[in-house]
Amino acid sequence: MNQENKRILMIATGGTIASKRSETGLKPLITSDELLSYVPDARHFCQADAIQVLNIDSTNIQPEHWLLIARTIEDHYNQYDGFVICHGTDTMAYTAAALSYLIQNSPKPIVITGAQKPIDLEITDAKTNLLDSLRFASCSRAHGVNLVFDGKVIAGTRAKKERTKSYNAFSSINFPYVAVIHDDHIIFYLDDKDHVTGPAVFYHHLDSKVALLKLIPSMDAGVLDYMAEHYDAVIIESFGVGGIPARETGDFHSAIERLVRSGKTLVMTTQVTNEGSNMSVYEIGKNIKQEFGLLEAYDMTLEAVVTKLMWILGQTQDPQMVRELLYRTINRDILYPV
Ligand code: ASP
Repeated sequence: MNQENKRILMIATGGTIASKRSETGLKPLITSDELLSYVPDARHFCQADAIQVLNIDSTNIQPEHWLLIARTIEDHYNQYDGFVICHGTDTMAYTAAALSYLIQNSPKPIVITGAQKPIDLEITDAKTNLLDSLRFASCSRAHGVNLVFDGKVIAGTRAKKERTKSYNAFSSINFPYVAVIHDDHIIFYLDDKDHVTGPAVFYHHLDSKVALLKLIPSMDAGVLDYMAEHYDAVIIESFGVGGIPARETGDFHSAIERLVRSGKTLVMTTQVTNEGSNMSVYEIGKNIKQEFGLLEAYDMTLEAVVTKLMWILGQTQDPQMVRELLYRTINRDILYPV
């Protein structure tokens, strides 16, 4: 594996990895250059430069920050062989998915990582995660947007934070790991760089007016009317494989009709983490799906659906195009039913 002399750009954005204790709690204070100084062994396989574009707790991440990160990569794309973004873990799965849509078909690896513990602690996962990420970004067989954490390489559209405290915070949902990293070895489970055909494509627009409605028994359908009024797209996180409560339990049927007729986008998904939606299974989902031609997430993660809709609606509001793009597989995000 050729890992010699790779030029890597490390882009720091804050998060726990770069945090120090303060009187008001942990907050990002460690600079990008300091972060790199904690992984001197990276010098054996890459020359890394560091740039600081943000220094925030990722709870504060916004779509404009995703555009900034993507723009930073685009501006430096020709000077570097790979990119590593250091980021807070709380919204890292959203950023990984957003970057998967903003930067498509990249033959160069773009890695996003972070840590559950700050890098300046003696006992921390930060040094391993950063070193693994630099190693993966320096690997000639790596490509596209991936999240590297706790020795796992997860496709940027498939990651989900499932643990708030443990080092194995992230899972790959409805999809295998792209690779695992053991010490200085990368073991690829999906070794498909030869399928990357063209130059990287960068996008520059996102529509942030995407809302999420998580159903609970007893919910008032008026919430959906409110969302439809204020947003361009609404995602309904329903139960199981998917359905809409019957009329007598809150008139979601009429609210959905109003939303769809107004030309806004509605996507159904599930609250269950694994195995995805399929509204055609039960009468409670099948009828309404047919009546309004509803879109559904199938095996996509919520993070992927949210950011994919922002990317799609940043380009078009045409319902046919929205449908076509939602079901188009991008960075391994959807396998079913296409
Ligand atoms: N609150 C932190 C953040 O997301 C948590 C972390 O980085 O692990 O920025």
